Amino acid sequence: MASAGIVARNERSGWCEVTASIDGVAPWELRLERLRGGQWITVRNPFTWSGQRASFRCSGIARARIRARATSAGSPARPVTAEIRQPKPIVPQVRMVYARPRDRPARDDFAAAIGNAGREIQRWYAGQVGRSFRLSPRGVERCVLPQDAEHYAVRTLTRVIQDLQPCREVGFSSPAYVWLVYVDVDHACNRREPLGVGAKGLAILPRDDLDGLVGVLGTNDCGEPLTGAVGRWVGGAAHELGHAFGLPHPRACDRGRPTCDYAALMWAGYVSFPGTHLRTQERERLSRSPFFTRAWASFGR
Ligand SMILES: [Zn+2]
Repeated sequence: MASAGIVARNERSGWCEVTASIDGVAPWELRLERLRGGQWITVRNPFTWSGQRASFRCSGIARARIRARATSAGSPARPVTAEIRQPKPIVPQVRMVYARPRDRPARDDFAAAIGNAGREIQRWYAGQVGRSFRLSPRGVERCVLPQDAEHYAVRTLTRVIQDLQPCREVGFSSPAYVWLVYVDVDHACNRREPLGVGAKGLAILPRDDLDGLVGVLGTNDCGEPLTGAVGRWVGGAAHELGHAFGLPHPRACDRGRPTCDYAALMWAGYVSFPGTHLRTQERERLSRSPFFTRAWASFGR
């Protein structure tokens, strides 16, 4: 079934996101048109395009439509069209996900601990920045991955993100969402692509961190015992979320200089969470982020 349509609108930043597919395949051509003076006019180069998803500036576009075309046996099929009617407003927010492979049991204590950690980190950032992020009113969202845990022991990051897609559109750099994802998988010792990372728009953490949040520690990927109070594990998520909001490590620390602020959250301070801090320039940067607002407590409590 051919389809194309606006799925989201980020009211604050004025971005729209569109997904389109034709018989499940990314379209060969996608065109945005807007209504002006009773005529449909093509918007030139509106998209940042990746696979079946695209983003474009849509503030001020009340009505627009998408034309998507697919190739069929080498020749274009008939274009399909979908109108933007009333785009659904999305307030930039942090979404929390608890994912488990199909062979691992659902753990309500893990889901509850993720929600508690999210709220604690939210309050902590508010104390540091004077604003904080909103948490999604959906609370902790749950996903079941289609393979057994063993499948995710290698190429963990790639496989987990890929297999999450049918459940939630977890990814990088969404204008609407920063994702905080916990996955109940273990990673093979010293292999590439472990979890426990944060990058623009996504913080993703493994089973070790779930155990840490509930205070029952096991061993790391290489069989060594894990340590740390619950705060250290909440702090780990706060650090990775910092990366997800665009914060790097303090430069002096990355360069091994003696001026390194070791106690900063974005360096080693996360182990002492909540007894750590954001640095001045980090607070300034976050206060300008569309994800940070003084009204952070207004939904998703
Ligand atoms: Zn880091």
